[in-house]
Amino acid sequence: MQTNAAFAFPADLSPLITPAVERENARLNALDRFDILDTPREEAFDRITELTKKIFDVPIAIVSFLDAHRQWYKSCIGVPQGEVPRQDTFCRYVIDDGMPLVVTDATRDARFAQNPYVVGAPGVRFYAGLPLKTRDGHNVGSLCLVDMKPRGFTAEQVEIMAGLAQIVMDELELRLYADKDTLTGVSSRRSFKEATGRAIALALRHHQTLSMVMIDLDHFKAVNDGYGHAGGDRVLVEAARICSAGLREGDMIGRLGGEEFAVLLPTTDGTGAMTVAEKLRIGLEQQSIDIDGKIVNVTASFGVASLSPTVRDVETILDRADKALYEAKNKGRNRTIEWRPPVNAVDTHRRRVLKAGHILFNGRSSSIDCTVKSLSDQGAGLEVSSSRGLPELFYLAIPADKFDRPCRMVSHTERSIELAFC
Ligand code: GH3
Ligand code: MG
Ligand code: MG
Repeated sequence: MQTNAAFAFPADLSPLITPAVERENARLNALDRFDILDTPREEAFDRITELTKKIFDVPIAIVSFLDAHRQWYKSCIGVPQGEVPRQDTFCRYVIDDGMPLVVTDATRDARFAQNPYVVGAPGVRFYAGLPLKTRDGHNVGSLCLVDMKPRGFTAEQVEIMAGLAQIVMDELELRLYADKDTLTGVSSRRSFKEATGRAIALALRHHQTLSMVMIDLDHFKAVNDGYGHAGGDRVLVEAARICSAGLREGDMIGRLGGEEFAVLLPTTDGTGAMTVAEKLRIGLEQQSIDIDGKIVNVTASFGVASLSPTVRDVETILDRADKALYEAKNKGRNRTIEWRPPVNAVDTHRRRVLKAGHILFNGRSSSIDCTVKSLSDQGAGLEVSSSRGLPELFYLAIPADKFDRPCRMVSHTERSIELAFC
């Protein structure tokens, strides 16, 4: 576990929120808008890293996004897909300064000479990074090049990289405005969520029911492996078509990402939604899909959630449908499950957020960075680079909210923590 041990977090958070805290909070909000974190690899970004690598003849090229505690790779060449703790990255300087950063020989740069990626594997010597800047000026990520030998880099090369970084951002910004998913023609994630928000407001006002069905194709990796990415794409188009055909006017289907779809069912309660979901599930199961003369059969798992006194917003209904879907996966796939409250449920009012937090322990003399992903009056869900070695009791500080409370860890995995406030 990496701690900022030398950094003593004040017991009383300053009543003033510093400009740096405000900037980081706005940056995370901007990043959240794109819904890009933890999404699958995509050709649109892989093309850019491939091109970047070729143009500059470097072994490593990365398009990444930074949340509060990590640098997450959307596309990378020359390093394994994944994420690294933000603290040790070169890219965090690019994010903080919002300027290109060129390090011709990291062993001769005081900021990086002791960096673990310089001292240890992969032995970084050369680095060039450009910020991925939103139209409203937030640095949400970086496009970077790395070499294991020192190199020079001209102003013209920085300019070319800036052009490539702009292509990444154009791709992202355009998606924000797209109503339809370009592959399947169903609603884009953004427009689906917006429509859901409007439908929920309407349902609450008129005391009507509303349900959400979340769909994830089963073993889709095997489809890609067996029939290629293009074959997989054909299956996605067909799956969207089959599901759309089974819906009524007024229902809406959207592609949430990858091989995940969702169906919004206004004026439909849980029982009705289960019937619709089962109809779609059986329709998919029974339909053979022809890929260049080869017949493919796919199934999907379905999760259902409905509006209720504790579910009154888009994120909560999607979260519940998602939980039910994962239960369907765990129970063997190709089935439909309706969300049910967990036994001994205490914390049902969580909001999904993306905020910078600090976990403080050792009498507040040690801290590690975390990203706060959900929050309620009673507890929070966090992501960290590693939860190893953390005590059961600690403080959680969220500077942007002037929030600082003692907490108890309820459960954790390597990279996530569920906690209750004491
Ligand atoms: P399961 O959901 O049953 O647990 O297994 P899975 O194999 O479907 O698992 P997972 O959700 O982890 O993998 C989804 C795969 O979908 C991974 C990714 O490569 C692929 N995928 C995501 N988006 C696309 C796309 O646009 N086109 C194609 N062809 N494949 C995609
Ligand atoms: Mg999936
Ligand atoms: Mg799947």
